[in-house]
Amino acid sequence: MMKKIVVIIGGGPAGMSCALWLKHLGFHPIIIEKSKQLGGLQTINPFHNRWYLGVPGQTGKELAQQFRRHVEIEFLTTLLDSKLKRITRKKTKDNFSIFTEEQEITAQAIAIATGQRFKSYESIESIAGSNQLLLSQNVCFNPGAIPRTHGQVVAVVGGGDNGLGTAVMLADTAKHVHLFVRSQIRGFGMNQKMVLDYIEAGKITLHKPATIHQFDLREEKIYVTFKEGDNRSEEIQVDYICFRMGFAPNIEEIVELLDVGGVVSLELNSAGYIATDRFLRTSIANVYAAGDLVSFWDPCVATAVGQDTIAARSVEEDLRSNV
Ligand SMILES: Cc1cc2nc3c(=O)[nH]c(=O)nc-3n(C[C@H](O)[C@H](O)[C@H](O)COP(=O)(O)OP(=O)(O)OC[C@H]3O[C@@H](n4cnc5c(N)ncnc54)[C@H](O)[C@@H]3O)c2cc1C
Repeated sequence: MMKKIVVIIGGGPAGMSCALWLKHLGFHPIIIEKSKQLGGLQTINPFHNRWYLGVPGQTGKELAQQFRRHVEIEFLTTLLDSKLKRITRKKTKDNFSIFTEEQEITAQAIAIATGQRFKSYESIESIAGSNQLLLSQNVCFNPGAIPRTHGQVVAVVGGGDNGLGTAVMLADTAKHVHLFVRSQIRGFGMNQKMVLDYIEAGKITLHKPATIHQFDLREEKIYVTFKEGDNRSEEIQVDYICFRMGFAPNIEEIVELLDVGGVVSLELNSAGYIATDRFLRTSIANVYAAGDLVSFWDPCVATAVGQDTIAARSVEEDLRSNV
């Protein structure tokens, strides 16, 4: 008997884990990944992934490589560099038709694992002078980048773990780090403690609550005008600026495709991520979602991998009768 096909959209840790489980549960999983390689956000993580059990000393990039190797060894079907064009559901049957630029796939279920993207220029576009920063080499949005800022004055904008981590990482070698936080610091207590230690050591200045009003680029230097609490506006000059503005879910395209294709609308939660029950079923029958685009409160590899294991089990339970 032909195995039931489950299309997995997104080939990060969540999508790969889902495919592995589905294969061993007797399905034919097909991963559709829009980029040229599997691995998701771990492909831009040059830091040691100290949080994932069993891989001490490995960077995120190395872990992504291991995951890819596992997918190869298991001969999991993967469509790379593949753009979704349309998703429809046949009226008479429960099957989905999934169209990419190259082919049409008929699937009995869909697992969405498209993760998140880091916020970039769009998150500062409304600030006066921000367009000038586009001309500068000394501006960075990518949380996986390690800027060369030895002996320089650096601004870091963002009070989450990425902002705090970047400030601490650069403080060792920079001349000074200005950390801008809009309201409250939100990172792990451990990261907050490290920032406090660097503040005490005179390496980091914390501006909080701070609102940035203007950027200005003059002779390779970046000028930041901001207001801190009730103080008067002030301007500081920095050599380099790192924005760590958080993440947004990769859902717009999927929501639109399901909607336009006549499949019912996907329900989102109040944070704008996909709403699921605790077994990762979405509001649409036989559509599941897992990983960062669901668990935005705990975005990490362990959660992504674990969640898609649960999603795969839900697929098995829902389609079990005639696998
Ligand atoms: C710099 C950095 C460091 C990190 N460090 C750690 C760490 O040390 N430890 C840890 O546990 N976690 C870390 N994380 C978080 C971790 O990488 C994520 O939690 C994890 O990758 C989430 O997996 P995911 O599969 O849900 O999503 P992702 O990894 O984001 O994968 C989603 C995939 O879906 C694809 N996709 C998106 N839209 C579409 C579409 N329309 N069609 C097809 N494919 C699509 C994307 O290209 C991507 O490959 C880090 C993240 C960053 C950015």
